[in-house]
Amino acid sequence: MSKRDYYEVLDVPKDADAKVLKKAFRKLAMQYHPDRNPDDPEAEAKFKEVGEAYEVLSDDQKRAVYDRHGHQGLKGQGYNPGFQDMGDIFSHFGDIFGDIFGGGGGRRGGGRGGPRRGADLEYRMVLDFMEAIHGVDKEIEVPMNNWCGTCEGSGAKAGSEPKTCSTCGGRGEVIQQQMFLRIRTACPNCGGKGKVVSDPCGDCHGRGKKQTTERWTVKVPAGVDTGMQIRDRGKGELGDKEAPRGDLYVSIQVRRHEFFKRDGMDIMCQVPMSYAQACLGGEIKVPTVYGDESVTVPRGTPSGKVFTLAGKGVKGVHGRGQGDQHVQVVVQVPKKMTEEEEELVRQLGQLSDGQVADKEKPLWERWMDKLHGN
Ligand SMILES: [Zn+2]
Ligand SMILES: [Zn+2]
Repeated sequence: MSKRDYYEVLDVPKDADAKVLKKAFRKLAMQYHPDRNPDDPEAEAKFKEVGEAYEVLSDDQKRAVYDRHGHQGLKGQGYNPGFQDMGDIFSHFGDIFGDIFGGGGGRRGGGRGGPRRGADLEYRMVLDFMEAIHGVDKEIEVPMNNWCGTCEGSGAKAGSEPKTCSTCGGRGEVIQQQMFLRIRTACPNCGGKGKVVSDPCGDCHGRGKKQTTERWTVKVPAGVDTGMQIRDRGKGELGDKEAPRGDLYVSIQVRRHEFFKRDGMDIMCQVPMSYAQACLGGEIKVPTVYGDESVTVPRGTPSGKVFTLAGKGVKGVHGRGQGDQHVQVVVQVPKKMTEEEEELVRQLGQLSDGQVADKEKPLWERWMDKLHGN
């Protein structure tokens, strides 16, 4: 069966931004939602199709691959979009369904009271200017709390089982009578878990969780900038058994560059130009982030003039579009000159307006001369 175009599925234009996508997805998800279409396999198929389209298009990296190479491209890159069952969709887009259907899902995901999905994590990544421009695969280490593998999260030593808490009878909460109020609080004996571990697992000391470090490779697309966030699905903390992992949100910060400055997708820089070049014109070598280019400066170019190198800016982070590089030429005024140079400049000055300081006389003397009409 041939797959439909994702943009067509969501009925959005190719350049739809995140807001438009989310809105379109919400609308269609409401329409085909299983709560509204019980036992309707056609609606279920539509619901899955819409979920898959949104999964890809809402992910910058996958969208870029899809835009360039289509469905085959995604497969080629090892992405396998789509959902086997509805619970998957709920846990992926818990946030969105959470606010459509008034909670029940939310970040905890897993649909309705199912196993809890792992926590989302944030990672701050600092990139060099060029890494952000060209994109980079970054290996990172993310500290996280994960279920203890030894006891599989129960906290009990192998061969023993956690026992039902006798204080709360396994409910995890107790009711306290205070004056006229009955207050529910977490059970002080088991801490709300409903079970107590009498023979704790040596690895996690009965907590059921352990501080671990995961090594992930984050694919940073070309064109990212400070303040952007990459969402890496399934790279957060482990959830309950059968529940998906949380997501990793990678927040980007880009270091400054000593020569280039960035303004969105455009790049700015300043290059020096000699006085002779400004007068007579010539070729100036200009570095770009993609290598050196040469700019032809016409005769009579004033200092501060800006030239634009089209298409030498930053690539769009979604794989579309590219900015320009703006080059400002600045006339260099030499602080030191050879005798010969000085003589030539002096002659030039006298030729053009005659108002050149004499070689020996310092400023105050010239000033005095002027005062006395010399
Ligand atoms: Zn353990
Ligand atoms: Zn208890």
